[in-house]
Amino acid sequence: MLTNNSNPATPVIEIRDLHKAYGDLEVLKGVSMTAPRGHVTSLIGSSGSGKSTLLRCANLLEDSQRGEILFEGEPISWKGEGLHRRPSDPKQVMRIRTNLSMVFQQFNLWAHLTVLENVMEAPVTVLGRDRKEVEEKARMYLDKVGIGDKCDVYPAQMSGGQQQRAAIARALCMEPRALLFDEPTSALDPELEQEVIKVIKALAEEGRTMIIVTHDMRMASDISDHVIFLHQGLIEEEGHPSDLFGAPKSERLKQFLSATV
Ligand code: ADP
Ligand code: MG
Repeated sequence: MLTNNSNPATPVIEIRDLHKAYGDLEVLKGVSMTAPRGHVTSLIGSSGSGKSTLLRCANLLEDSQRGEILFEGEPISWKGEGLHRRPSDPKQVMRIRTNLSMVFQQFNLWAHLTVLENVMEAPVTVLGRDRKEVEEKARMYLDKVGIGDKCDVYPAQMSGGQQQRAAIARALCMEPRALLFDEPTSALDPELEQEVIKVIKALAEEGRTMIIVTHDMRMASDISDHVIFLHQGLIEEEGHPSDLFGAPKSERLKQFLSATV
């Protein structure tokens, strides 16, 4: 049951004035953003600016203390306040987590499962889908990311680039409403980075909804519809990549860009 999901104008995720602290450390100080359907939104900013936290709050891996999160127009319902605020509806939490698949910097594949088993695991055990159907889809997604021949090997037998592509196939096999990437290429050698970027670009061209935290300004510039520059838990500047990278306005963004390229 997804509300408004037939209306393409409803963003997959909308975040309004989100606040998040770890103890006394305020990490998000009132951040608002949307992930429109079919769009790629990139989050850039210095280490510690709150990018991962924002992504983790969006799919409810982290609690937040104030502000709203809407999934396909449906506001998360909360109980408690401030540091005690938690989502109140476990079914809603499950629906959101399974519809916003994360791809992490460190791949997070199960070492004791083959690549095919890794991709099949969540659709079968979490979504309760038919094993045969999931296997067919898993093979299709592994083909799509170019490692259809690796079904029966274990993650440790693959390169980092192949492991990350397996992690992307695993996220796709959940058939989520959006993909959330947290620095998907940061752990990879430059030559392996490219094969992962190619896959992410292809997904962008297919019109998938994605939020990508990245250090790779070239990728962000190439594939994003919208780029958000976070600085110390606030959006310092945002806009179309050609404006943000071509004509940055804020001094902090100018500094950040000159330090990263
Ligand atoms: P980024 O992804 O932009 O590098 P993060 O969102 O990971 O930034 O972190 C933002 C800030 O929150 C940093 O100061 C970091 O040390 C802190 N932080 C992140 N996770 C935790 C945690 N689980 N407990 C305490 N502090 C955290
Ligand atoms: Mg991070």
